[in-house]
Amino acid sequence: MTSHNQQPVPVVAVIGGGPAGLMAAEALANGGVHVNVYDAMPSLGRKFLMAGKGGMNITHSEPFDIFLARYGARRTDIEPLLRSFSADALRDWIHGLGIETFVGTSGRVFPAGMKAAPLLRAWLHRLREQGVHFHVRHRWCGWDERGALAFSTPGGECTVDADAVVLALGGGSWPQLGSDGAWISLLAPRGIDVAPLRPANCGFDVQWSAHFRARFAGEPLKGIAATFGEVRKQGECVVTEHGIEGGLIYALSAALRDEIERSGTATLLLDLLPDFSLRRVQDEVSHPRGSRSLSSHLQSRLGLKSVKANLLREALSAEQMHDPALLAHTIKAVPLRLVAPRPLNEAISTAGGVTFESLDANLMLKKMPGVFCAGEMLDWEAPTGGYLLSACFASGRAAGSGALRWLQQPRETQGLLHPRN
Ligand SMILES: Cc1cc2nc3c(=O)[nH]c(=O)nc-3n(C[C@H](O)[C@H](O)[C@H](O)COP(=O)(O)OP(=O)(O)OC[C@H]3O[C@@H](n4cnc5c(N)ncnc54)[C@H](O)[C@@H]3O)c2cc1C
Repeated sequence: MTSHNQQPVPVVAVIGGGPAGLMAAEALANGGVHVNVYDAMPSLGRKFLMAGKGGMNITHSEPFDIFLARYGARRTDIEPLLRSFSADALRDWIHGLGIETFVGTSGRVFPAGMKAAPLLRAWLHRLREQGVHFHVRHRWCGWDERGALAFSTPGGECTVDADAVVLALGGGSWPQLGSDGAWISLLAPRGIDVAPLRPANCGFDVQWSAHFRARFAGEPLKGIAATFGEVRKQGECVVTEHGIEGGLIYALSAALRDEIERSGTATLLLDLLPDFSLRRVQDEVSHPRGSRSLSSHLQSRLGLKSVKANLLREALSAEQMHDPALLAHTIKAVPLRLVAPRPLNEAISTAGGVTFESLDANLMLKKMPGVFCAGEMLDWEAPTGGYLLSACFASGRAAGSGALRWLQQPRETQGLLHPRN
């Protein structure tokens, strides 16, 4: 392609058509370059659509400082990205696609209807009109000996030359949706520093008794609080065949995972009656129960039955159940010994990835000039609450804009164009 003054228009390949890649494509197309998006799957944005299934939480309305703190150790790396494309800017962008947003009671921001599909449809339509070309069923396999991008397609292998590349290949969770972390084997041998991929926002294994597992797997634990270390959160979770998962657990999962890595297990304390003081629970437990069984006593005085009542029996022996002080303490803090995080493929998101230290301020790989990275494949993590998508969108935009800036530099200052050279 050539422009009016016969300068060739740069061609940029964006590999990965999730929210980060599509945002990079948009920034690039707006900058007047020719953009091709490649994705291994038969259609784009599959994880984004999945995120919309349970009610798409796209960002959060809390103050910027609190928002930033959600990125923990990577806060300072994420900060410039979010300063360039904040939660408010993201909302304006969504409105620009003709989709309203609203703030839920928790401060979380959702697109109208809480669905991802209308947003993705409108976005892809706009990108096509901006001249972006999409190539699905194109699995990127690395670079050939000339430095061209190599793809495997249903029609066979093909290679593509590009003036710059944005990699937005996602993490390693839910691989059936396209992002499988296989890109590590393409980047690590080139000396790119990649922190090991680990589950984030994940469930955990608990060694339930056979009886408890058989009876209660799939049962929700509602209206409880969980404490780990100094952090206490209220919410709900689900007992699973293997252990425990759900929003309340995800919120504490990074610290729990790290503790298991350090010491082999982590003990989570579940408060089954967060609205009752210990004193009140003690009084109710100690109240004379006459000929009533302990089970019906707990049910009538405290409303503890079914999965909650049986959780106590997982923690206490029959004898201990009859010690009112110990029973009351346990109701307020059932110790749950977590022995392992659930595998990465089941997690909502991925920790680890390309380290920020391997990237420059444009999100370009220092060791591979012309190759930019964005989204969940970068080494950051955050809880659920819209923080994941917010950072994916912001980093995609930053990588796209970064590639534009780099392409505008005189060639001799760009460094090595092709990674192999
Ligand atoms: C069940 C679920 C619910 C979620 N809910 C929310 C939520 O409510 N709010 C929120 O903020 N976040 C949520 N998330 C997380 C969010 O969806 C992800 O963080 C986000 O999609 C990551 O965007 P990405 O563009 O970096 O990667 P992805 O969306 O994973 O996209 C990466 C793309 O790269 C492609 N790809 C990978 N390797 C190759 C290759 N070799 N060649 C070509 N293409 C390749 C994949 O096919 C994929 O399309 C949820 C995730 C899950 C699993």
